[in-house]
Amino acid sequence: LKVLEGTEDPSSSHRQPIGETGNSQRTEDVLPLTLDTDFESEAPPTNGTIGYDAGNISANGNANRNASSEPIFHVRSRTAASLAGVLQQEQTQYESLDYDVCENKLFQDEQLSRLRDRFSLRTHFIRWIIFILIGIITAVIACTIDIIIEELSELKYNFLKSSVDDNVTVNESGGDLALPYLWWLLLSAVPVSIGAGMVTYIEPITAGSGIPQVKSYLNGVKIPRIVRIKTLAVKSIGVITSVVGGLAGGKEGPMIHAGAVVAAGISQGKSTTFVKDFHIFKAFRDDHEKRDFVLGGAAAGVSAAFGAPIGGMLFSLEEAASFWNQNLIWRTLIASIISSFTLNIVLSAYHGVGDLTFTGLFNLGKFDHPLTFEYFELPLFMLLGVMGGLMGAAWNFLNTQINKFRKRFVPWRAGKVCEAVLVAILGVTLACIMIYYINDCRPLGNDPTIHPVQLFCEDNEYNAVAALWFQTPEATVRALFHDPPGSHKILTLAVFTIIYYFLSCFTFGLNVSLGVFIPTALVGAAWGRLVAMLLFYLFPETEFLHPGKYALIGAAANLGGVLRMTISLSVILMETTGVETSFFFPLIIALISAKWVGDYFNDGIYDTIIEVNHVPMLPWEPLPQYMGLTAQAILSKPVVCIKLRDRAHYIYEVLHKCNHNGFPVVDDVEGDRRSEGRVCGIILRSQLIVILLKSLYVENQRFWQQETTIQTFRDVYPRYPSIKSVSPLDRKYNYTVDLSMFMNPSPVRVNTYDSVPRIFNIFRALGLRHLLVINNENRIEGIITRRDFIYK
Ligand code: ATP
Ligand code: MG
Repeated sequence: LKVLEGTEDPSSSHRQPIGETGNSQRTEDVLPLTLDTDFESEAPPTNGTIGYDAGNISANGNANRNASSEPIFHVRSRTAASLAGVLQQEQTQYESLDYDVCENKLFQDEQLSRLRDRFSLRTHFIRWIIFILIGIITAVIACTIDIIIEELSELKYNFLKSSVDDNVTVNESGGDLALPYLWWLLLSAVPVSIGAGMVTYIEPITAGSGIPQVKSYLNGVKIPRIVRIKTLAVKSIGVITSVVGGLAGGKEGPMIHAGAVVAAGISQGKSTTFVKDFHIFKAFRDDHEKRDFVLGGAAAGVSAAFGAPIGGMLFSLEEAASFWNQNLIWRTLIASIISSFTLNIVLSAYHGVGDLTFTGLFNLGKFDHPLTFEYFELPLFMLLGVMGGLMGAAWNFLNTQINKFRKRFVPWRAGKVCEAVLVAILGVTLACIMIYYINDCRPLGNDPTIHPVQLFCEDNEYNAVAALWFQTPEATVRALFHDPPGSHKILTLAVFTIIYYFLSCFTFGLNVSLGVFIPTALVGAAWGRLVAMLLFYLFPETEFLHPGKYALIGAAANLGGVLRMTISLSVILMETTGVETSFFFPLIIALISAKWVGDYFNDGIYDTIIEVNHVPMLPWEPLPQYMGLTAQAILSKPVVCIKLRDRAHYIYEVLHKCNHNGFPVVDDVEGDRRSEGRVCGIILRSQLIVILLKSLYVENQRFWQQETTIQTFRDVYPRYPSIKSVSPLDRKYNYTVDLSMFMNPSPVRVNTYDSVPRIFNIFRALGLRHLLVINNENRIEGIITRRDFIYK
């Protein structure tokens, strides 16, 4: 009664600090008690009297967590109680995906019927077709983005070059950059504002590269709207405008995201956005199947972005995937090979190459001569790796601080768009200042730049600084790899490295669709080349200091320092530059040293973003603070349960009153003390809603029993209706729901005394969403979800 009247101690929180079993306090938890007590009386609860108003029920449905009772969070980096509210809100916005297949009676019936008509062979075959389709469509989208960026950038920079030529040579006093500068500002600010505006106002989830989001999705976290068609459209236009606008970013990350959206869309055979069901691929309408396709899509995206099929597959394996099996290796490889093959065909056709071997597929440019190295260079490569690790760790730290600052001080949407435009303006201004003040003239014919700018140089000379800036970042990386020795001054590259390092740091995190790969490679290539030039300056006799080679090692080191990947990055770099396998060794030395040094200081940029946004992503290993603890320390109790045969109105009320997504199904319940029942299964909120919506009650069983199949539930996937869409039960108030054919009859169960690291491994490996903790009598003791492994 005390509890019902809301007079219990407000400080009793549902979450307990690590190590406390908290049994005595937890028995006072309100929700299950009040639910049971309340429904016993069969009268609808009245707000206020029993404390059910929105303020008293926390966002995740646990009772009595109001403003005055802040829960105690044990989060690695933040412990301040004042942040707990924000943190809680951020955490609860993420739900999990159901990677554990619910093998209920309906599912088993379907499996049996498939066995009878050899359907599973057909399903297997269709699965391959889908992976091939994913490869083709992703590549076509990537090509389209690629070609549009290429054409628009060509137009933009040619116009700027001619504007520079016209204005600077006409003016005899040494040149006037003012007009070209204004044009440059305009041609950067307009596309960037369009891109940032679309991202901010139409689909904010498209901001950034998309890789952290895809990675979280593959780990089992539902990121709202991440794989929608609208997201794909905004992302594609966003990346085109940002790259054409000249921001320090690349198109690779967004293409990976695009691949993931394509995969999620095609594999379902329907579009929820366009309300169109093609009635195909119905067997793949669940999170588990979709996850594998999304992984294939990500691989196809990498493959299309870089023209690197093996790199694409390895990227999925190393960075994106949280679950992996042998079949998947084949399928992702097929998706990425088909993707790069399609890319090849389309680009060959577009560029008019007859034999389907478009050389531009090496999008970081092919090295003409085999890259060789001396054994005494290996320590040097390692040192470059260490430098990359240090610079990468510093970059990640700085970028995170800038983004935290942004989140706090630029919360308004218009502010975000203005910020992106300001950074674009800053980039152009810095570039102009650099071009104006650094006098780096090189004889024509030295640099393979197609349209060299003369600027303040003599006739027969071109400006090497302008050559660095007047093209897309990807083209600049290509130039740094392949420009012959002596193409730049030391000062030019030093200033360029510094400017681009900070510019890319400010850019990543803006509300625009841009990836981090190309700017990172660019900074690395610049300082790698710079190192070679400095060494050559100090030791002019040496012959091994090929600047392109050092630019490549520098790019690898810097990428390793920021992204912390090794195998996939080295393979991607090899595939995009066509270097021989013998050069794999130097690349991997630089990458591994960079990764180890960087890891000493902080996480890779993608993991940092995931952590800063409090995405409940499960790491590979349990967090160290859980060592030695048992399930008792992290479980939540009392548990909101549902009886095997329960009253419709109880279910209806439970779904309204709490936001949990899984409910243990119990029998052998004394009265209404469900939370002490004996476990016989688990049921998901989405299934319960379908049951209520379709009136699958015992009382009218004969009407629905024949036609209800697993498809009834798949039809509403993935946008399950909310409980609000279920009309009040009225005359069905006392109807009964029998869950035996709908529930998952074999939920994973552990004992209260099982160790947390062990149950973490079970949870992680099986991709579970709910783990039930039982006692020796199979009675429910508690429940564990992914959040409990991270925040308790
Ligand atoms: P997820 O958020 O991972 O998709 P969920 O929504 O079912 O799963 P939440 O309700 O968000 O889980 O979990 C929040 C907290 O509530 C966790 O500490 C969890 O242990 C607890 N919890 C989850 N389900 C129940 C339940 N049926 N009864 C009581 N507590 C629960
Ligand atoms: Mg939840």
